[in-house]
Order: sequence, then structure tokens, then C-alpha cells
Amino acid sequence: LPGGPRVVRASAMMPELERDLVDRYAAPSLAELDGVVPGVEVAVVGFGNGVTAEVMDRLPDLRAIVNFGVGYDANDVDEARRRGIPIANTPDVLDDCVADVAVGLVIDVMRGLSAADRFVRRGEWAGGSRFPLTRRVTGARVGILGLGRIGLAIARRLEGFDTVISYHSRNRRDDVQYAYATSPIELAASCDVLIVVTPGGPGTQGLVDAPVLTALGPDGFLVNVARGSVVDEDALVAALEDGRIAGAGLDVYAHEPRVPEALTGRDDVVLLPHVASGTVETRRAMADLVLDNVERFLSHGVLLTPVD
Ligand code: NDP
Repeated sequence: LPGGPRVVRASAMMPELERDLVDRYAAPSLAELDGVVPGVEVAVVGFGNGVTAEVMDRLPDLRAIVNFGVGYDANDVDEARRRGIPIANTPDVLDDCVADVAVGLVIDVMRGLSAADRFVRRGEWAGGSRFPLTRRVTGARVGILGLGRIGLAIARRLEGFDTVISYHSRNRRDDVQYAYATSPIELAASCDVLIVVTPGGPGTQGLVDAPVLTALGPDGFLVNVARGSVVDEDALVAALEDGRIAGAGLDVYAHEPRVPEALTGRDDVVLLPHVASGTVETRRAMADLVLDNVERFLSHGVLLTPVD
């Protein structure tokens, strides 16, 4: 409608981005508005939230969703597709920082860095105890579940550690030399550390289940920087408790921000609060890509980085 907002903020987001959206488009927060809001063409959303069918009902003129983050699984993707509403995400700009954290989790969980830090702080070293031996990262066999943009950035980094890399995605890539495993279980059985970096959503729900964890084995480690939904969290807890895997490094969980209590007391897990892309530089680049998408859509009717 003439004069009304064309852009809304459909969830909380980074304060800087919120300010930019207000400055440029006088974008209100959806939470501030009542009922049906005609005239809004673009909804910006992020930080684990998504645009639901109910939100789409409230925005009858909605023509695009712009998602802060590359993972857009919190949106009702099927409903958006059904209504012909395209979604943009923020690919590429976060690959390096997410890959850095994945490598950090590999080293932390295999070498016990966070656990060793706690050991020092508890005064156990000073008290004469010795920290137990850990596992060698250099030369380890690494399995990457989901060799996409971030998966490849992880693989490239881990080549520097002389690791032996293999992967599983639904499609084999013809542009890499890494060995291809035909299933997650085959991948898990052939590696020392399994790194999960697929998208979330219904297509990957519970992809890493009890049999995959069992295949990883008692000397195997799991690293998840994808989505909590990709790993069966109950099965993960059980596998750790039974010693069927050696440890886990996690940035994401099934019910964030809730982390199962069964994990918080364990020294063989490294727990991060979903921060893989969380640097000043990358979050600014993500915000800029969101703004570029909004601007392009309002001026040309197309998104800059649409999904699919
Ligand atoms: P890409 O789309 O580039 O890569 C995803 C990869 O997963 C592709 O290789 C795809 O290959 C594979 N894949 C998809 N579905 C399946 C499946 N069912 N089984 C096996 N493999 C599958 O995405 P990005 O690398 O940019 O990002 C990956 C994900 O990482 C995001 O979707 C997001 O959820 C997560 N992420 C997490 C962050 C964090 O803060 N922890 C930050 C950024 C991203 P194929 O299609 O051949 O199967």
C-alpha cells in the first residue's frame, strides 16, 4: 500500500542489520504489527527463525523471503514454494569461518583441548595428575558428510594436516580427488572423524543415526556444524555413554539453545553455542548480502542469491 512498509523484520536479528533495515526501508518488526499487513513485499528473517505459513498469511503481498544465514530450513520451504515466494540465503561469504570452526572442533575433540583447559583450571595438573593421551589429527582419516561449499572448504584446510579425505553426498563430485562413499554408514565405517555439513530440513533428518554412529566406532569422533536435526541426538548420547564412539564436537543441537544435560558433564564432547559463522567480518558480510538481496528485489524483482 502506498506509504506502508515494503520490508519487515520477521524475527530478531543482528542489531546492526536491524538498524540498516530500519534506516533504509523503515522496516518494522513483525512483532510490532497487528494482524494482516498488506503491502509488505520482502520479509527478512534469520538466527534460527523462519517464515511460517501463519506469517505468510499475515503478509498477503509477500513476494520474497531473505534469510540471514545459508541454512534456511527454519522457513516453511514447501509452503513458500507452493505460494511462489522465492527465498534468498547468504552462501559463500561464511564458508571460511564455518570451515575454520569445523577444523577447530576436530582438533579440540581429538586432542582434548577444552578438556585439558578444564583440567588445568581445576588444579589437577598442579596437583600432580597427568592428562590422558589423545588422538593424532595429522594423517587421520576424515569423512565429510555433505561435500558442498563449506564441506570443500573444510577438506582443503584438512589437506594441510595430511589427512586422508573421503566424503558422501547424494551426488558424486567429478571435480575432486577424494574417495566417494555411497552412504553415510560406509563413510562412517572408513574414517576416524566424521564431519557433518549437510543442510538441515526433512531431507537430512536423522541422517546420522545409531547405525552410522556404531559404524564410526569406539575410536571415531563426530563433528557436527550442520544442523542438530541431521544427527539423532538421543542416539548420539547413547553412543557416547556406551563408548560406541570416542567423542563429539558440536556447534548445533536438536532443540537450541537447549543442550542435553547428558552432554554437558562429559569431557569427551566439545560444545559450542552455534557460533561457526560468528565473526565480526563474516556476520557483516552476511548482513551486506541480505541488504543486497533486499535492494535487488525491490528494484529489479529478482533475488541476488536465491536458493535452489
Ligand atoms: P551446500 O548446499 O553448498 O552443500 C551441502 C552439501 O550437502 C552438498 O554437497 C549436498 O550434496 C549435500 N547433501 C544435501 N542433502 C544431502 C543428503 N540427504 N545426504 C547427503 N548429502 C546431502 O551448503 P553449504 O556448504 O553452504 O552449507 C551446508 C550447511 O551448513 C547449511 O545448509 C547449514 O545448515 C550449515 N551451516 C551451519 C552453520 C553454523 O553456524 N553451524 C553456518 C553455515 C552453514 P548433494 O546435493 O549431492 O547431496
